[in-house]
Amino acid sequence: MSDCIFCKFSKGEIKPITVYEDDKCIVFLDKFPLTKGQTLVVGKKHIDNVFDLPDDDYTHIFNIAKKIVKASDAAFDTIRTWLLVQGMQVAHNHIKILPIYEGEYPNLTEGSGPEVNDDVLNEQAEKLKKALE
Ligand SMILES: [Zn+2]
Repeated sequence: MSDCIFCKFSKGEIKPITVYEDDKCIVFLDKFPLTKGQTLVVGKKHIDNVFDLPDDDYTHIFNIAKKIVKASDAAFDTIRTWLLVQGMQVAHNHIKILPIYEGEYPNLTEGSGPEVNDDVLNEQAEKLKKALE
């Protein structure tokens, strides 16, 4: 899909602030996060619903999501990290990884939060990458 933003990220036509990438998925910081340090795990195939992915892609993407959740808890001062599949905003499979902080709970009926500048996102990406090592 030529107008799909997540396909552009997957193909490298637009470069998000990336934490992890392989042949099946890309993980990057959400520029409009609900919580500080939110990432998105996006499969590289243009399939809308994550539950319609072939089993090997599905399993792989959720295994990567698990690693990112662990990295999020290690990198940030979280009480826990949530994993969320809504699929309501972009019609291309993605999993939201939401770091949760004491007393700060996101409103999940809101799809996104205020824009965060790239310097902050780059700093968060470095922390996550270090935690993934
Ligand atoms: Zn797409």
